[in-house]
This record gives sequence, C-alpha cells and structure tokens, in this order.
Amino acid sequence: MPNNYKQLIENNKSWAQKKKEYSPGYFENLKLRQEPNFLYIGCSDSRMPLDTFTQTEPGELFVHRNIANQVSITDINFLSVLDYAVNVLRVKHIIVCGHYGCGGVNAAYHGFARGLVGNWISPIRDIARKYKEELDAIQDEEQRLNRLSELNVLKQVGNLYKTHVIQQAAAEGKLDFQIHAWMLDLSNGLIMELAFEKTQQKAPLKSN
Ligand SMILES: [Zn+2]
Repeated sequence: MPNNYKQLIENNKSWAQKKKEYSPGYFENLKLRQEPNFLYIGCSDSRMPLDTFTQTEPGELFVHRNIANQVSITDINFLSVLDYAVNVLRVKHIIVCGHYGCGGVNAAYHGFARGLVGNWISPIRDIARKYKEELDAIQDEEQRLNRLSELNVLKQVGNLYKTHVIQQAAAEGKLDFQIHAWMLDLSNGLIMELAFEKTQQKAPLKSN
C-alpha cells in the first residue's frame, strides 16, 4: 500500500501513458464533455470506489460520497449534486450504495462517534431506535450491524424522494430515471440489490 504521495504521481504517469497507448484519443474525448448515466451516492470509506467494483471509466459515474452514504435534505453540497445530476446531466439511474462493515453505521449504533462525525451520523441512531425490535432479534452483532446498514440505505432512498429535486421531477412527470438501493459486500466484492416499494417512483408526489 503506497504511503508516499510521490508514488501516486508515478502511478498516475504510468496509468496515463498506458491509456494513451491502448486508446489513442482517449484524453481528447474525455476532456470534451461528461455524459454519465449514473449518479452514485456512496460512503466515503476508502474501500468504496464504485467505479472499481463496476469496471466503470472516468465520465461514467457522477459521484457524491459522505460518511455512511447519507441523503441529507439539508446538505447543500448533496442537493447541488442531485440537482445537477437530474436536471442538467439527466442521469438515467440514481444509486444509493451502502456497504457491510460500515464504520459510520457501527459508530452510530454504539454511540462511539463524537463531534461533527457524531452529528453527521446521528440519523442512523434514529433508524436503530425505530427498528430496535427487529435488530435486537438478530443475535449475531455483525449481522445486526449489516441489517442496520441495509435499513440505512433504504432510509436514504426514502429521503431522496423527499428532496425538492425529486418531488419537482415527479410533479412535472419527469421521473425518467430509476432509483436503486444497493449494498456492497466487501467480503466478496459483490453488489446486492435491496428491494423497496418501486411504485413510489411512479406515484405523483406532492410538490413543495
Ligand atoms: Zn461506510
């Protein structure tokens, strides 16, 4: 694992060289425009670069990441990304992707995190309280935290529908994108799709 930043610069040179060799014109095309079909909302965790797991290239994923993949309807950073993705880039899919073994979910559940991080992940504590009965019934702690990570993703998908951007798109009949809830299993590198009530994607939501 590199710990010298110069190694990263060297890696970059060698990557760019290989790209140029294998795909002449690659960078000329890359700099022209971005037309990604996917908005990826994921965890900041260094093990969660979705482009690696999905073999997507620069230009294919528009990305917003934060600790424990929160969809915060008061986060101007996130809302700007969503607005741009939906109304300018017109992405075809919005993916909220959590992962098992999420440190943010773990810290929220156990009350470990303090300060700003503690504040940021406090909504996960509310989820844990809401689903306390279901979670308490799971004996194995790892599995309990995994389930909480899933509930967290589903809650964030619910939050997505509460945003003005999505409500506006629904009110105007422009929900021409799909929303997906994913979990990434770091123990095998595989993506699992979580089911949720898809009909709410088509239902006319009230505009604010
Ligand atoms: Zn995480």
